[in-house]
Amino acid sequence: MKTIAVIGANCAGTMISNHLRKILSDKEWDIVCLDRDPTHHYQPGYLYIPFNLINRKKVLRPKQKYIDKGVKFIVDEVVDLDVEKRSVKTAGNETINYDFLILATGCRIDHEVVEGLDTIWRKKAFDFYSLEGAEALAGALKDFDGGRLLINIAEVPYKCPVAPMEFAYMADDYLTRRGIRNKTDIVLSTPMPKLLKMDIVADALAKTCKEKNIDVITEFTTESVEDNKVIELAGEEREIPFDFLVIIPPNFGDALIEKTGLDNGNLGYVPTNPHTLKARFLDRVYVIGDGSDLPTSKAGSVAHFSVPIIADNLMAEIEGREPLKCFDGHANCFIETGKGKAFLIDFCYYYEALPGLFPLQDFGPFSLVKQTRVNHWGKLMFNFVYWNILLKDRHMPFVSDKFTIMGKNFKLSGATV
Ligand SMILES: Cc1cc2nc3c(=O)[nH]c(=O)nc-3n(C[C@H](O)[C@H](O)[C@H](O)COP(=O)(O)OP(=O)(O)OC[C@H]3O[C@@H](n4cnc5c(N)ncnc54)[C@H](O)[C@@H]3O)c2cc1C
Repeated sequence: MKTIAVIGANCAGTMISNHLRKILSDKEWDIVCLDRDPTHHYQPGYLYIPFNLINRKKVLRPKQKYIDKGVKFIVDEVVDLDVEKRSVKTAGNETINYDFLILATGCRIDHEVVEGLDTIWRKKAFDFYSLEGAEALAGALKDFDGGRLLINIAEVPYKCPVAPMEFAYMADDYLTRRGIRNKTDIVLSTPMPKLLKMDIVADALAKTCKEKNIDVITEFTTESVEDNKVIELAGEEREIPFDFLVIIPPNFGDALIEKTGLDNGNLGYVPTNPHTLKARFLDRVYVIGDGSDLPTSKAGSVAHFSVPIIADNLMAEIEGREPLKCFDGHANCFIETGKGKAFLIDFCYYYEALPGLFPLQDFGPFSLVKQTRVNHWGKLMFNFVYWNILLKDRHMPFVSDKFTIMGKNFKLSGATV
């Protein structure tokens, strides 16, 4: 019997384990999936908690329920990895020897690396990138009665690059409903020169900020925080004052990856071939989800589109062939803009997010890089799709794993096909 070990059983680990179980014979292959946490977190749902639109019950479910019965699921922390001996060691002192390893360890926030932030953490500074953070923020926002609300992306990279913008738009909506928007300045700061790397969507997001009277500050990397300001020390010292801080703290890969040196000193992210999804310097190791250093968004959709690529390449290696370089960095996501509307963007390594229709070229029903009600319903529907289709490895009608140019309006981008 041969073994594939998967470390991490949230979004990416569950999808790849379930898919592999379908395609590999259970007479020849054991699939062992490990996670320190028995509870599955639907992280996109964290965004809605601060505004009391949902509660924790909507984002938490038992992991076991979503993992195929033919996969051996172990709730334990992996504390060591030996890629030479091909073995994994857990806190519970179990050793698992593997033939192939899949790292699906995700990434985490660490507020303590920002000097001074710990002093005001969850008193005056909050996050919504963790369940506890989103809940604490909901409590504090309820008591907020106006002032300067700063949404601050401390540094790059961070997961779900559009979530801070979504938070700003939804905060505008929420504060308007509470009747205190006219007493609040909303400010959004990013370390990047614009809100996203891609021009057309960055311009659309900036325009939406303008319409909603949200100030945007670019090229600001937060290095320290005081009671009422965030500070950038590099170059000319700059600061942004706040009364209430919502920060996206620095993101890192899992501590295990750093500890074992598999990140080559790259903040806990595993160097990954962007096309084969194989770990660049490791034999028989693949990487899926936020724990890789792929030059695309850290998003559940990217993990989803990676599943068949990793499966095909594993099969190729098993059959003695070379893995194929066929991952195109495909990603898509809805962007809530408040007041019942949302954008949708669809892109890959080679094409930025372009306007058009999705997934059917003449019918949509979703519109790309455009705020519509249908997109907002799509975002709400995504919750159902996540639990019932993506995690369970069911076929997603009309949506291709690979980026497709169908339905995209190239004239606007100046791009040629
Ligand atoms: C606020 C917010 C909104 C988002 N919105 C969207 C969206 O709209 N669309 C979208 O596509 N994506 C969105 N995302 C991003 C999406 O949630 C992530 O990209 C996705 O969860 C990544 O999946 P993953 O499995 O790689 O990592 P995770 O889901 O973080 O899972 C990693 C798992 O590995 C386990 N693990 C790690 N190390 C070990 C170890 N040593 N031993 C045992 N277990 C270990 C952890 O316990 C965890 O269960 C959002 C994220 C946030 C925070």
